[in-house]
Amino acid sequence: MAFQRPTGTEDRLPAQQAAWNYVTERAERVVAQYGYGRIDTPTFEETALFVRGVGEGTDLIEQETYTFADRGGNRLTLRSEGTAPTMRAYLQDGLQSLPTPLRLYYVAPIFRYDRPQKGRLREHHQVGLEAIGEADAAMDAEVISVLARIFREIGLRQVSMQLNSIGDDQCRPAYLEQLVAYYRPRIDQACANCQVRLEKNPLRLLDCKEERCQPLIAAAPKPVEALCGPCAEHFARLQHLLGLLAVPYTLNPRLVRGLGYYTRTVFEFYTTERGAQSALGGGGRYDGLIAELGGRPTPAVGFGAGIERWLLALEEQGVAVPEEPGPDAYICHLGVEAQDWALQLATRLRSAGLRIVTTPGQRKLPAQFRQAEHYRARYAVIIGSEEAARQVATLRDMTNKAERRDLTDDELLHALRSASAGNGT
Ligand SMILES: [Zn+2]
Ligand SMILES: [Zn+2]
Repeated sequence: MAFQRPTGTEDRLPAQQAAWNYVTERAERVVAQYGYGRIDTPTFEETALFVRGVGEGTDLIEQETYTFADRGGNRLTLRSEGTAPTMRAYLQDGLQSLPTPLRLYYVAPIFRYDRPQKGRLREHHQVGLEAIGEADAAMDAEVISVLARIFREIGLRQVSMQLNSIGDDQCRPAYLEQLVAYYRPRIDQACANCQVRLEKNPLRLLDCKEERCQPLIAAAPKPVEALCGPCAEHFARLQHLLGLLAVPYTLNPRLVRGLGYYTRTVFEFYTTERGAQSALGGGGRYDGLIAELGGRPTPAVGFGAGIERWLLALEEQGVAVPEEPGPDAYICHLGVEAQDWALQLATRLRSAGLRIVTTPGQRKLPAQFRQAEHYRARYAVIIGSEEAARQVATLRDMTNKAERRDLTDDELLHALRSASAGNGT
């Protein structure tokens, strides 16, 4: 093979589109129910938008992004997460002047130079939601409810959600000091990564997966124990609302998120089918991000969820995805005159809105029927040379093989249209 797709990327073949459309269409239907409007931003942005100073505590470092210089010498990065570009557009395109909260969603490819493994790609796609300009816990509850509803609509089972609050700029600095003071004398018991985290992003000490770090984490102070009054109130209100809305969750005091801009609420959805936990998406509140990007301080909350993860989970759970309907008819013809008539007929039927596939070249009738089956056409239209001369055709129902002969093009149109309407398409 001369060329291969790059490591960590996927081709999405025609046979996989039905599942793709199934989840994205349902997700878009759910977000529309809640009043979210779609935003599309460029595939690449200025590098500085994603890599904003190591001191900010972000784990997204330049080595994990697809960063390049263009011929004009600009440093550009392929979209490595969905929130920062949406906030950049919010500030640049004057969306701040719209009434709040502003509800936005996106469906977009995300690029990360990760170690490829199952369910972890260098190019994956996310459905993301951002609700901008509202600090009330009801906004967090709505964002979480949307994602829970999406999973219900696409038919995923065993979905659970973990919830935590990691405080804000009022209470977190003191908490981080406490955490660092706890870890500093014990750091030789921690893994090498945690030794780096202690200096760069101590909050992430809490979600280390290494065996040797677990006893340290278990005894460490937790952010939820150090919340200031307003943060504690917000978190209590959110839990109250999730209870009212019947969104199940478990509190996980160790839950933090990979990106450094989160404040207060963080959450993650998992499916636990077959024991193994696999992440389906998550998010949280990021009340400081818009100011960090140069805007007025503006509260916001959102989620990002990987579509490929949903598809893997659906497959593992054996959820049947409805097939997309085949064409209304497949036109078979025998002889050159029949082909001439078939092509004109096909054009006429398509102009009337029907989906019509024709046979190129000359093939035997059984071969053309096999094609009609391959396309999952509901009907075959059969034209021989004698029928072509009279401009009529035979209509064959591919499911029960019943045939109606000598139909004019008007009669064909009528028959196919009423079948198509009965199909709900
Ligand atoms: Zn560790
Ligand atoms: Zn606080």
